[in-house]
Amino acid sequence: MKPFSFYLGTRVFFGRNCLQENQEQLLKLGNKALIVTGRTSGKSSGALDDVIASLNNQQINYIIYDAIENNPTLENIKRAVGQAMPFQPQFVIAIGGGSPLDAAKAIAVLLTNEIDPLELFQNQFSNPPLPIAAIPTTAGTGSEVTHYSILTRKDLQTKMSFGNDMTFPRIAFVDPAYTASMPYEVAVDTALDALSHAIEGYLSKRSTLVGDILALEAIKLFGECVSFLQSRNLDYQTREKLLYLSTLAGMVITQSGTTLVHGLGYSLTYFKDLPHGRANGLLLHEYLKYNYSHSAEKINNILKALLISDIDTFGQVIEVLLPNGLVLSDDEIEQFANLAITQKNTQSNLKPVSIEDLKQILRDSQRPPK
Ligand code: NAP
Ligand code: FE
Repeated sequence: MKPFSFYLGTRVFFGRNCLQENQEQLLKLGNKALIVTGRTSGKSSGALDDVIASLNNQQINYIIYDAIENNPTLENIKRAVGQAMPFQPQFVIAIGGGSPLDAAKAIAVLLTNEIDPLELFQNQFSNPPLPIAAIPTTAGTGSEVTHYSILTRKDLQTKMSFGNDMTFPRIAFVDPAYTASMPYEVAVDTALDALSHAIEGYLSKRSTLVGDILALEAIKLFGECVSFLQSRNLDYQTREKLLYLSTLAGMVITQSGTTLVHGLGYSLTYFKDLPHGRANGLLLHEYLKYNYSHSAEKINNILKALLISDIDTFGQVIEVLLPNGLVLSDDEIEQFANLAITQKNTQSNLKPVSIEDLKQILRDSQRPPK
């Protein structure tokens, strides 16, 4: 058997009302909380109101920072830290999609370590970060159970992650009801991010035996949700499955990381302003085609779990979900491939990858809007 190590630093509570039913957990983290969220996700999901009620019940003081941007930048993190510092919070409650959750991890480190945000990427902090309770409102990133914080590096024109065993959220309250307010496009994009995590984690050089079980289960659950996603019929049961699979897929990438889809996808987000999950989703079909010669058995397992007969049918499923397609110039293809080859995750792909391969994947992933 392939040797492996498996670590998860987060206690997960999953299910409807899991925050209300376990609110005493918050008091274990301290009695002064910094709530970190985006402009709309905390409020429209209902999670912010529930958190405030739980904090009031337990007489925990709090302040709210609700200006985390999508794909947060180091400047955005710095502003949040500056505003929170005088309050001297003892823990952080992160509410939102991956953007606020990842931002909270950076903020939690910077509130206990007087370092420049750029130093986060060295992954060594003298002091442990503030503990975090994470509450996802999208079903995609799995950030509630990963140690990764993915931030936008304007200096390098890409996104970059940091994280170590100390940056796992201490607790995750994973309640499907908080994803009900997601706009349909966000639901699709984030579901494709989760699928991407499961598939890439499974096709990574760093895949693990335990992670593979979680990945195939997550992929199977995605298969069960596809027709509901396509018909825009996202009832509670489907949202529950989508959130569960995204948390499972987060556990997968915590062990094995992502691969070239994320490596290339960062440029589609940075330069083309495509949401993170959509960027990945647009590349998945060609990614499977590219890897098939090297990893046929694993890719057949993926298709079987999805109940999809072949890779081209998979491509058609994605086309229905992402009708707007992708168009790139030759210069963009050149630039994005050159950036992606330097990404660690690209190098984790099971099949060895060259710049030429990346360019071909980008070329072949193009399709005009429907
Ligand atoms: P997001 O950027 O957090 O959110 C996308 C949009 O959806 C935002 O406008 C957000 O509002 C809105 N939204 C979120 N939940 C909502 C809800 N329940 N109701 C209404 N609106 C809602 O999207 P995401 O895809 O979840 O996260 C993407 C980020 O996570 C990227 O930076 C990506 O690199 C990162 N990521 C991290 C990991 C990891 O392991 N840590 C893995 C994959 C991706 P607001 O404006 O209020 O935020
Ligand atoms: Fe992702």
